[in-house]
Amino acid sequence: MSGHGRARRGRARKRRGNIRQAGLKIFLTAIIVAGGLLAGAIGASRAPGPGSGEAQPGKSFQGEADVGQVPLGEEKTGELDAVKDSSSTQAGQPQKEDWRLILVNPWNAIPEGYGVDLAQLKNGQAVDERCYPDLQEMMDDCRDQGLSPLICSSYRSQQKQEALFENRRNSLLAQGYSQEEARAEAGKAVALPGTSEHQLGLAVDIVDLSNQNLDESQEDTAVQGWLMENSWKYGFILRYPNGKSALTGIIYEPWHYRYVGREAAQEIYERGVCLEEYLQA
Ligand SMILES: [Zn+2]
Repeated sequence: MSGHGRARRGRARKRRGNIRQAGLKIFLTAIIVAGGLLAGAIGASRAPGPGSGEAQPGKSFQGEADVGQVPLGEEKTGELDAVKDSSSTQAGQPQKEDWRLILVNPWNAIPEGYGVDLAQLKNGQAVDERCYPDLQEMMDDCRDQGLSPLICSSYRSQQKQEALFENRRNSLLAQGYSQEEARAEAGKAVALPGTSEHQLGLAVDIVDLSNQNLDESQEDTAVQGWLMENSWKYGFILRYPNGKSALTGIIYEPWHYRYVGREAAQEIYERGVCLEEYLQA
């Protein structure tokens, strides 16, 4: 057992400011000046404090997450090793103040002082404890189909996100990108610190044990096939769908799932929209 549970106190503040009603035009315009906006977003949010299981040294990563190769066969059973009995799947109308619908993207940083109560998973992962029961159920049901899903990234502290971003930026600089280009380009694949959903504890990157590459080949795995069809039933959406990058600000990521609650997930799935579009409706 690892040192569990001691996530930072604090509660998700109901900051309304982070959910913008900005229209499509604004998003499209914003993407053009994203570089500048991203720069402005730095330092806009505070880390929620000591992370857990964050101390994995410089692994190679692709896309948004930081998965290294995890040995086959590891981590077959339940995600959680701390038992928590939160029966916290609150029903009710999806409201914009709803913690499940908090919008974090390149234009909406995490509210200052945002804190997360974490549930520790095996494999060094952790998520907001409120989404844990649904996550566990989804993983269990996926495995019941004979599949082998693997959570390779989950909650990240501000420091962790900063390190990921810097790694990415540096590798682009090494490839000959200018400072400005490297920053903008890195921001498309690794969210700028303060603007990653992983810092909410409501996002997980899930891969197929047989293919742990965070690239579009993930889309063809059996695990993704199942998740894309079924994750909404557990309150998770494929957060960065193909063709929505102009709205989400993030490349197509057929591995990143975001918890939004079951009602919202169903509607988002059925309408084929992304979270930004859903929140504007
Ligand atoms: Zn992710």
